Amino acid sequence: MPQLGFGVWQVPDDEAEQVVTTALDAGYRSIDTAAIYENETGTGRALAASGLPREELFVTTKLWNTEQGYDSTLRAFDASLTKLGLDYVDLYLIHWPLPAKDAYVDTYRAFEKILADGRARAIGVSNFLPEHLERLIGETSVVPAVNQIELHPQLQQAATREAHARHGIATEAWSPLGQGKGLLEVPAIVAIARKHDRTPAQVVLRWHLQVGNVVIPKSVTPSRIRENIDVFDFELDAEDLAAVAALDEGHRLGPDPAEFNSGA
Ligand code: NAD
Repeated sequence: MPQLGFGVWQVPDDEAEQVVTTALDAGYRSIDTAAIYENETGTGRALAASGLPREELFVTTKLWNTEQGYDSTLRAFDASLTKLGLDYVDLYLIHWPLPAKDAYVDTYRAFEKILADGRARAIGVSNFLPEHLERLIGETSVVPAVNQIELHPQLQQAATREAHARHGIATEAWSPLGQGKGLLEVPAIVAIARKHDRTPAQVVLRWHLQVGNVVIPKSVTPSRIRENIDVFDFELDAEDLAAVAALDEGHRLGPDPAEFNSGA
């Protein structure tokens, strides 16, 4: 899995083909979509039009909450694959645990079938808290390859990352730039950017890469799409990393997975 990919949340389907094409041209090979983003069709069109060999691409999509359950998951997966125009996805994720629905174990058993059938190369979860991971691992046979969680310098997620390390789960950061809201103006980030003659977004993405997170920044602006992947030719030093570590304030932008039950 490429450590840096491209997220397409909030990109309308009729713009997704162009936006994903810009990302592929800029060098991204990993694309993160979801059934609920309603842009799998446009995303799939860009993948097909790129002419890139399938094995060079890494495509992630996610099962929406309303479809949790064994049979409904199998049907929803078929629909996603058809919209994407693919024979397989590289990674399929349960979008939210939905504790009130209490169906993620059954849902994941359908994921294990999809994996065994070769229609997903890897399976995993999103927004799972350590307690959800422990239960899932205890009751099923395939350890999730990935847990995609909200993670940025103001929400560093130490406890969940520790659970990942214990089980060999990759940490994937959603909203890695804090949705561009405020984080990119934090003085410590701006100072590090000046020191390296880089942008605040590049500093934040570089921090993710150096602490071992998979990242999927989103932008629809071509110059920013290119800027966000241009992060492999500089390095933050120990002082920079310590300054970013000090920004953790446990501040969520999105819902708390313990309480989010939309579509349950
Ligand atoms: P992000 O942190 O990637 O921020 C994106 C926003 O930051 C852009 O809309 C833009 O306003 C700004 N931005 C981007 N590049 C910039 C730059 N170079 N300079 C200045 N501003 C810049 O936020 P996101 O879109 O929420 O998260 C990224 C991806 O994560 C999504 O597209 C989606 O694929 C995934 N995601 C998953 C979940 C989940 O529940 N699994 C939830 C949210 C997002």
